[in-house]
Amino acid sequence: MKKPKIITIDGPAASGKTTIAKLLAKSLGYCLLESGAFYRLVTYLLLKHNLYEKFIQKNLNLIETLSKLFSSVKINLTAEATQIFYEGREIKSELREIQVEERVSVVASIPEVREFIKDFLRKLVNNRLVVAEGRDMGSVVFKDAEVKVFLTADERIRAERRYKEKTEKESLPYTQVMDSLKKRDQLDSTRKVAPLTVPEGALILDTSELTPKEVLTKILHHLEKV
Ligand code: C5P
Repeated sequence: MKKPKIITIDGPAASGKTTIAKLLAKSLGYCLLESGAFYRLVTYLLLKHNLYEKFIQKNLNLIETLSKLFSSVKINLTAEATQIFYEGREIKSELREIQVEERVSVVASIPEVREFIKDFLRKLVNNRLVVAEGRDMGSVVFKDAEVKVFLTADERIRAERRYKEKTEKESLPYTQVMDSLKKRDQLDSTRKVAPLTVPEGALILDTSELTPKEVLTKILHHLEKV
């Protein structure tokens, strides 16, 4: 087939999206767009500037606040990562801290935030070839993408994956990781705007019993057929 411009990969937390999107982007020479990083960034910046409570209670102009915060943000997209710089410094581990993780789905459920990030991502991609991963890449942001994938996995397996990843850096109780994942899934799939959903025409893959390489092979086969 003709090279698709955008390939979307959506799915719940720890379903393997980032791992697979990275493998796919590398094997095709595409840029990797990790959209969750932008919701994490908004959450991180609100906490950093002590604006979180005011923001979620809508006690300030949301779009103006977002525009102001994002005026110091620079993005670099490579096949390996979505690199985010704030005031010239790369922000990475900060976005994965538990205080960000526990609040990100609340921030991501605010319609003004979704609208802002949607516009930002569309402008950022422009004419590049990208693998875009998230919750609403194929259903909303890049609705016209030629190839869409939806990853799922058993809840217990997803919690174990996330636990393994998290406890590499900090010690956390398993129940806290499991609860945070469940809460996020619940909020992400029930919110009013752009809830997590299977996009029409998506290739659905359950990654519970598959290695990342096996998932990649299935997607590459699918790409040959479409
Ligand atoms: O994928 P990641 O775990 O980094 O996403 C963090 C959070 O960002 C998700 O739990 C969800 O609330 C939000 N998100 C979203 N739409 C996307 C990507 C992420 O609402 N496309």
